Amino acid sequence: MKTKEIIKTASELAKPFRISKGENFRLKDVDPDDTLDFTKEADKPRAKEALVMGVTALAELQDKLYAQDKWAVLLIFQAMDAAGKDGAIKHVLSGVNPQGCQVYSFKSPSSDDLDHDYLWRCMKCLPNRGHIGIFNRSYYEEVLVVRVHPEFLAKQKMPPKLVGKKIWEDRFEDVRNFEQYLSRNGVVVRKFFLHVSKKEQKRRFLERIDDPQKNWKFSSNDANERDFWDSYMQAYEQMIQETATKEAPWYVVPADNKWFTRVVVALAVIETLASLDLAYPKVGEDKLKELGTAKKKLLSK
Ligand code: ATP
Ligand code: MG
Repeated sequence: MKTKEIIKTASELAKPFRISKGENFRLKDVDPDDTLDFTKEADKPRAKEALVMGVTALAELQDKLYAQDKWAVLLIFQAMDAAGKDGAIKHVLSGVNPQGCQVYSFKSPSSDDLDHDYLWRCMKCLPNRGHIGIFNRSYYEEVLVVRVHPEFLAKQKMPPKLVGKKIWEDRFEDVRNFEQYLSRNGVVVRKFFLHVSKKEQKRRFLERIDDPQKNWKFSSNDANERDFWDSYMQAYEQMIQETATKEAPWYVVPADNKWFTRVVVALAVIETLASLDLAYPKVGEDKLKELGTAKKKLLSK
C-alpha cells in the first residue's frame, strides 16, 4: 500500500474511536474487546502487517514534520494499569526518528511538583516545534487518581478556599482552555484512553505474577486499585465528556487485544499528521545558487 492509501484507510478506521464532542459520550458504548470486523485469529497477522506499513508511513510523515519545523504534536496516553500504554508507545513509535521524539512519564508528583500549580510539571515537557511529544500519563491524572483518592488532593497545598465542590468543573475548564491555547499555537493535541476490561486486567496481572520476566511490572498497589474500578470508570467517562473537543479529541481505543490497540493508535497518529499541511521546506533563489556553487566546487576537485 502506498502512503496515500494508508492515510485514507487510517482516517476511515480511526474514525469510530475518535470523540470530538463529549456531551453524549458513554463509556458503556465502547467494548474493550472490539476488533471492528477483523476476526481475532484470522486477521491478527494481517493487522500486524498493517502496523508495519503504518509505522513506515508514520516515519515519512514525521520526517516532514521535523523538516518543516512549524507544528508540534502532543500525544497523551491515559489508561488503567496493564492496559498496554507502554507497549502501544513502543510499537507505534518504533519507526520514528528518536531525534524528533520526546517521551515523558508522569508518576506521583514530587515535592517540587506539589509546590506548583498542577500543569507546571507538564508544561515544562511540551514538545518542541517539529517534534512529537508523548505523555505517558499527564495532567489528566488530576481528574482521575486525584478525584478517586481525595487524600492526593489534600496533599496539593492549595489554599483551602479554592478547594470546593466546583474543583473538578474548574479543572475541566482549565484543561479545555489550556488545550485550546496549545492548538492556537501550533501544538496539536491528541489524547488516547486505552480501554481495557476489568477481566482482561486481571488476566494480565496474573501473567505478570506468573511470568518471571514480567514480575518487575507488577505492583500490589496496582491490584489494590481494582477496588476503585467503578469510580475510575466514572471519572474517565466524565473526563472524556468534558474535555473531548474538535481541536483536542480523545480516541477511546479498545484495549483487550494488544494487536488491535496498536493498530488503532498508529492509524490515529497517521490521521493526525496527515491532517497537517506538512511539506519539506522549499529553498529560495539564493540557497539554490549556493547549492549550485557548492556542487561545482565539489565536482572540480
Ligand atoms: P505505569 O503505571 O504508568 O505503567 P509505572 O508503573 O512505571 O507506570 P508508577 O510508579 O505506577 O509507574 O507511577 C504511576 C502512578 O503515578 C500511577 O498510579 C498514577 O496514578 C500516579 N500519578 C500520576 N500522576 C499523579 C498525580 N498527579 N497525583 C497522584 N498520583 C499520580
Ligand atoms: Mg504503575
